Amino acid sequence: LAGRDFRQEDTVIRIGDVEIGGDQVQIFAGPCAVESWEQLIESARAVKAAGAKILRGGAFKPRTSPYAFQGLEEKGLQLLAQAREETGLLITTEVMDPRSIEVIAHYSDILQVGARNMQNFFLLKELSRVNKPILLKRGLSSTIEEWLMAAEYLMAGGNHQVILCERGIRTFETYTRNTLDLSAIPIVKQMSHLPVIVDPSHGTGKWQLVRPMSKAALAAGADGIMIEVHPNPSEALCDGPQSLTPTNFEALMEELRTMTRMM
Ligand code: PEP
Ligand code: MN
Repeated sequence: LAGRDFRQEDTVIRIGDVEIGGDQVQIFAGPCAVESWEQLIESARAVKAAGAKILRGGAFKPRTSPYAFQGLEEKGLQLLAQAREETGLLITTEVMDPRSIEVIAHYSDILQVGARNMQNFFLLKELSRVNKPILLKRGLSSTIEEWLMAAEYLMAGGNHQVILCERGIRTFETYTRNTLDLSAIPIVKQMSHLPVIVDPSHGTGKWQLVRPMSKAALAAGADGIMIEVHPNPSEALCDGPQSLTPTNFEALMEELRTMTRMM
C-alpha cells in the first residue's frame, strides 16, 4: 500500500487548510519537550511568527535514562491544545504506548511514532485504527525497507495518512548524534507516494548543523522539515544542544523561503 505500484500520484495529507505532501513545504517546529506553559507558548509564538504551521512538543518522552525528565504527560497535552487555541498552529506529539493512544488522539492533530518505536508492531497495529495522521520516524538502525514496512503496518490496518520522517541513523561516526541519511529522501520518494520530511535536529544533534542540513533536505526533495526550537536552549530539559533559538529559527525560515515554494 505504501508503494508507488499501488498508488502513482503523491499522497497529500490535509488537516484543515494545511497540506503535507502537496505543493507546499511544511515546517514542524517547537521544543523537544513541553516543559511549562511559559516555555511552550513562547516557543509557539516564535514558530508561528516565523511562518511555520505545525507545533511539535513531547508530552511523553522516550529518554535514555529513567532519571531524566520524562515529560508532563496529559498536562503537556493540555498545554499543547491550549497553545493551538492561542496560535492556530496544528500540534504533533509522540505516542509511545498503546495505553495512551486515546488521550493523545483526543488532543493532538498528528500522532508521532518515535524512532525507538518504529518497529513496535503492536503499537503500529493499534495506531492503524486511529483516524488521525501518523508521523512515522525512521528507526535508529532501520533500513529504508524496514521503515516502509512499518508504514505498511499502519496502512494495512486502515490508516493511510502516514508521513515519513528521516531523523538520522546510527553509524560509526560519533561527531554527530546520528548520521542524517539525505539520500533516503529521493529513494523513498521514488519507492513510495507518502510524504517525507526530515528532522535535522535529531539527525545531527548540533544546532549549528540544522541550517545547512535543512537546506540540503529541501534541495533533496523533502516535503517538510521538523526543527527543535527552544526559547532558551541552554536551560532546556531535553535536547538543548540541538535546539535553535527563536532568532536563529526565524533566520532559517527566511532562508528556506528564498529557496522554496513555501508559504
Ligand atoms: C522527538 O522528535 O521528540 C524524538 C524523540 O525523536 P526521535 O524519535 O527521532 O529520536
Ligand atoms: Mn528531541
